Amino acid sequence: MTLTKLLGIERGWIRPDEIAGLELGEEIWFERGRPSEPADLGACLEEIIRRAGKRGLRYPSVLLLRKRQIGRGQWRPPAIPKVARLDSACAKCRGGGLVLQEGGKCGTFCECPAGELLKFPRARPRG
Ligand SMILES: [Zn+2]
Repeated sequence: MTLTKLLGIERGWIRPDEIAGLELGEEIWFERGRPSEPADLGACLEEIIRRAGKRGLRYPSVLLLRKRQIGRGQWRPPAIPKVARLDSACAKCRGGGLVLQEGGKCGTFCECPAGELLKFPRARPRG
């Protein structure tokens, strides 16, 4: 995931003289721990705009647009699937530990820690 992707920016929107500003944006976004919540992302965009201005860099106007849209609640970033979250909630059973068979009438224990926990209730999932 990149800031460009998170903001839904199309490459075609970026003019050649704005690329350096967008790259600075990616750097700052990464530095701040890749925020994806609207409030954090809005603050991050503000910092990007401020730091680009300080360096005399042009930045894509869509950064300012998104910052305003976030402030007004008109746009929000899409949810990013977090790796840590995927580890604890597996795709097969969605973390419930049971995988339903076709028709949904019977289920089997999943191979992931959540399934192990159902099989052996006293065992703790690793990690
Ligand atoms: Zn599972």
